[in-house]
Amino acid sequence: MPFDSFLGNPQAVEALREMLASGRMPPALLFAGPEGVGKKTLALMLAKALNCERRRDDFCGECGRCRQCDAMIAAAREDLARRREAKDAARRLDGLVYFDVQLIEPLTRYILIEQIRQLRHIAYTRPFQLPRRVFVVDDAQAIHWQAADLLLKVLEEPPDTTTLILVCPNAYELRATLRSRCRRVAFHVVEEATLRTVLAADGKVPEARRALVARLAAGSIGAARSFDPEAFERRRRPWVQFLDSLAGSPAGGRRALDWKSISEAAKALGEDRSTFEQTLRIGYLLLSDLLRVVENQPESALTNIDLLPQLKTWAVRLGLEGVEKLKNGLDQAYRLQTRNVNQQLGFETMAIDLEPLVSR
Ligand SMILES: [Zn+2]
Repeated sequence: MPFDSFLGNPQAVEALREMLASGRMPPALLFAGPEGVGKKTLALMLAKALNCERRRDDFCGECGRCRQCDAMIAAAREDLARRREAKDAARRLDGLVYFDVQLIEPLTRYILIEQIRQLRHIAYTRPFQLPRRVFVVDDAQAIHWQAADLLLKVLEEPPDTTTLILVCPNAYELRATLRSRCRRVAFHVVEEATLRTVLAADGKVPEARRALVARLAAGSIGAARSFDPEAFERRRRPWVQFLDSLAGSPAGGRRALDWKSISEAAKALGEDRSTFEQTLRIGYLLLSDLLRVVENQPESALTNIDLLPQLKTWAVRLGLEGVEKLKNGLDQAYRLQTRNVNQQLGFETMAIDLEPLVSR
């Protein structure tokens, strides 16, 4: 599983390979970029590349040292999970032991000073088993300010036996003094074509749904992989019913609205208070798509691309005026969501407002 198996962000992989090939690996790196694009995965791959017996600017995944790295990463993950579950907060930090390849992550809201103290304590010693020690500090923006002071001391006198990789979504959430001492490797959102490849390789999302999931994942491999298309469609269904009963028949000729169906859909939309925010988010996604269709934007810009024929029908019926009214209705529902109001009634009122427009 060498670097070739890493999907997306080829510029980041290339930068690392160049550093490896030149033999001048900076003592501290900062991997910054959006969530879910594989920053931590690539950091752990780099740990293997720095230790692999067979490859210089890559890793083989099979040699003794690559396997040792894998075992250490697995043990570190297990250790972190066990510590997070500890009920007594003080016990979370009991007997911290760092492997030559070690993940350091927040155990509470923060990465605590004891965690960085241990890092500093070991960083200047020879690795126990591998040629190169690699510490990956994930969610580095969560380093407690006291711990940040201590980490700064390490970065000011970089150890020659240890490579530090700080990982965070936004480099500017890190203190400038820390940031400036790391070589930055920038990550970007992953292209949809790559996300579709990931979904195809995983084999969980049927082909017909991959384009939709890739679009909704908005550039995050993590979001694409954990996406549940069935749950999404369950939530979207009442919206489709609502819009269909309002604006589902082709334009031309007066017609009466199917109020029973509208009322059913409105009930389903307003029913579950605990997931109402997600319901609204899906409504807003449909609304943006409707606006794009009304404005004749390219189909590639749509999120709900699987609903293209319906979107076109609804757009013709509603027009810009109808889309704006829908938006006002959603904004109203959004404002009222924390209050104890009957959202079903809100959606029905929205339909009443729209009736003169859509039954023309
Ligand atoms: Zn190897």
